[in-house]
Amino acid sequence: MSQTVIAKFGGTSVADSVAMNSSADVVLSNPDVKVVVLSASAGVTNLLVALAEGCSPADRTDKIEQIRNIQYKILDKIPGSQVVHEEIDRILENITTLSEAASLATSAALTDELVSHGELMSTLLFVELLRSRNVNAEWFDVRKVMITNDRFGKAEPNVQALSDLCNQHLKPRLEKTLIITQGFIGSEEKGRTTTLGRGGSDYTAALLAEALGAKRVDIWTDVPGIYTTDPRVVPAAKRIDEIGFEEAAEMATFGAKILHPATLLPAVRSDIPVFVGSSKDVAAGGTLVCNKTSQPPLFRALALRRKQTLLTLHSLNMLHARGFLAEIFNILANHNISVDLITTSEVSIALTLDTAGSSTCGASLLTTSLLTELSALCRVEVEENLALVALIGNQLAQARGVGKEVFGVLEPFNIRMISYGASSHNLCLLVPGDDAEHVVKTLHHNLFE
Ligand code: ADP
Ligand code: ASP
Ligand code: MG
Repeated sequence: MSQTVIAKFGGTSVADSVAMNSSADVVLSNPDVKVVVLSASAGVTNLLVALAEGCSPADRTDKIEQIRNIQYKILDKIPGSQVVHEEIDRILENITTLSEAASLATSAALTDELVSHGELMSTLLFVELLRSRNVNAEWFDVRKVMITNDRFGKAEPNVQALSDLCNQHLKPRLEKTLIITQGFIGSEEKGRTTTLGRGGSDYTAALLAEALGAKRVDIWTDVPGIYTTDPRVVPAAKRIDEIGFEEAAEMATFGAKILHPATLLPAVRSDIPVFVGSSKDVAAGGTLVCNKTSQPPLFRALALRRKQTLLTLHSLNMLHARGFLAEIFNILANHNISVDLITTSEVSIALTLDTAGSSTCGASLLTTSLLTELSALCRVEVEENLALVALIGNQLAQARGVGKEVFGVLEPFNIRMISYGASSHNLCLLVPGDDAEHVVKTLHHNLFE
């Protein structure tokens, strides 16, 4: 394992000139940081996604102007940045052309091509800012190494190809210069741009760390670490100083936005610790996610994932039958749908789908063809606007009294479904979307305050 640290900065950490300078300070304070992974400046990806969905000409102009403003404000503060100015203008022209195409016909491939420009711009600006501070930094197009499949919007990386290409193209450069590259984006076999799903830059950083044999990944964001729940929802949430891989992975999977759900896969695979801190307040410290933590508590954190859909499938054929569930799962797999929670009864099965998912293109999972195929087998009921609240902890399934502590305070709420026992690290509840924050606040108050 090398001494290399991969540092990733999220959208708010590269939102404007002040934020970018703080992030540059963080990078320069640690000589072990050899690769910097950046998100697009805050707000830019959302604007690009909206453009990719197709806009009226007026709306299009307005959104492109907003993007231009965000990037120009940063440019204007960097002395002698004429060349980059031209590059940013060229990218804005590209964005205009692609947005016009998207207004005629949208596609997932076009969306990925369009949204990738956010990361391309933020990295160009950051390199220029470092150069203006006399730092030897090089812009690197991550698509040269981040080879993925062609599942546009939520592409999966080819880990072996990434490792080989990093050894070839990236490793030799690390001795000589600081590399600045893009999170979130990749390239499929034919060279078309893909994305790893919303929030995917965390995942990029962990994947690069694995490929380069790095000693740590630092995720710099707008909060100084991982908290017992989203501090925006519960201001009394407390920072967790150290947390195990499994617990943090459960948090990320079940909606703690602080880490992209897949971030910890490479970290766990290659035992690389992940640090999470605030780029604006380094002195505040942060959270270390690592293999072993001392005395993991019974209750660790609460995560919340909105926009969940509950599918209930009824069929008398389930009674004493074999293979019914296999047929259902086959259909779901053919539609590329992964199931989250599941409960069964004698003649029915209920399962939840993460409708929002993290896909860059917000295509609905519940397509007519899926519902038609399922309806041929069983009666299908769909309930929308639910939220999944996950209690993350340790040895939850083995402990006594968990039910009382959790459900005792949830009397005022309708709990639509419960999943408990599959993992000793979580207990999941499905509740009406409108109650979700209230449920989290109530549980947090009882379990953590
Ligand atoms: P970035 O753009 O840096 O990737 P994100 O917005 O994706 O930042 O993630 C940081 C946000 O995650 C925080 O501002 C916070 O509101 C949210 N968040 C959700 N759950 C947690 C948690 N358990 N601890 C800390 N932050 C959380
Ligand atoms: N810019 C992308 C997004 O907003 C990726 C990221 O921020 O991690 O989803
Ligand atoms: Mg993020």
